[in-house]
Amino acid sequence: MQSFSKPFFRYLLTILSAVFSVSLIGVVSASSSTASLGAVVENGVVFPIVQNTELGRIVTTPCNTEIIHNGKQLLESVDIVLDPGHGGPETGSVGANGLVERDLNLTVTLLVEKELLSLGYTVALTRNTDLHMPIRQRTAIANALSPKAFVSIHHNGGAVRRSDVPGTETFHQVNNSESQRLAGLLFEEVFESLNDYWVPWVNTVHNGASSRLSEPGRDAYGILRNTPNIPSAIVEAVYLSNPPEADLMLLPEVQQVEAEAITRAIHRFISTSDPGSGFKPSFIDGAMTGTGSARGCVDLEYEKDLRVTAAYSNDEFESLTTAAKKAGMSVDEFQLFGVHALDLFLKVDSDSDSSGETIPAPVVSGSNVSNVNWSAESQVALARVGEAYGFTSSEVQKLGATLMVFLTSLG
Ligand SMILES: [Zn+2]
Repeated sequence: MQSFSKPFFRYLLTILSAVFSVSLIGVVSASSSTASLGAVVENGVVFPIVQNTELGRIVTTPCNTEIIHNGKQLLESVDIVLDPGHGGPETGSVGANGLVERDLNLTVTLLVEKELLSLGYTVALTRNTDLHMPIRQRTAIANALSPKAFVSIHHNGGAVRRSDVPGTETFHQVNNSESQRLAGLLFEEVFESLNDYWVPWVNTVHNGASSRLSEPGRDAYGILRNTPNIPSAIVEAVYLSNPPEADLMLLPEVQQVEAEAITRAIHRFISTSDPGSGFKPSFIDGAMTGTGSARGCVDLEYEKDLRVTAAYSNDEFESLTTAAKKAGMSVDEFQLFGVHALDLFLKVDSDSDSSGETIPAPVVSGSNVSNVNWSAESQVALARVGEAYGFTSSEVQKLGATLMVFLTSLG
């Protein structure tokens, strides 16, 4: 600690006390609120906005990772969000003819989108290509765009019981009459249009519109559970695991028939008060497939690194290099780590309402220049800390370094 001058030491103490008090005032509560902030759209990929900061817009990627996104095309809200189920390594059910649910869901969803657009609706898709995407991200997109309806499109697997009629199943949010009406209309339209075909169908006792619960009052499907403020439903049109049904769904004509049925259901949901039909009581079945988590999800690179420069006086730089060495890190890593530590402090207790203190910005000039590369992901910490203190990226970078030098001196 001998390398610190007295004023510098006082400055550090000010920072630390401010860090801990700011951490109590809820500057980052926006990131955990449910307010709909819209989304950034680039090449058809929708990035829901988590927080707008002076230093950049924090969004989540298809893998549900927070990054800074510099895209300029914003989408505030849409009438309908469609979700083609599964994607990437998560295939969903697979037909004997090789038809994969992941792909069929997308094909049908794109057809529904086209139909809805022609009716004048605004539409967003959670994915418009074959993309691995956790459930959390799908629902984050829906929540960001506050649509009138959110529909997840699937094709089922598993049933073996022979049936004279299609085994269409739709699911709604428990104790939500609008969601239930949406599921009832989806069932009515999809079931009736497929019932014009005859194949050796299969079904289960859940043929109809119902809600599946993991425990009383709790929706088993994350798609429905995570969107409590949006009428949401899941449609499982047919059993792809039943070979005759897989063969039927290979026909473009039938894909179109299904898409038009889903479109009619959504249109009726929005423009009428029709109740729908096929309702069945809710049932408890918490055994899920275990897919839909972010595990193993690998994002494409959506944004470039940002180079941030901060300079240090000779004394400061000596403290910095010595402390970094002591911590076994490079000077760059040390600064990055410090900012992530600050970000972490900010997240602690973010909903308390005590008032914060302001701290003086670090002086970022000096003869020792340090350039740090920040990935789009690590820029989130930079932006959030900058927003909390009203600092520039350079000032935040130096604040992080200062914190680390201080913390290292304690050990
Ligand atoms: Zn599925």
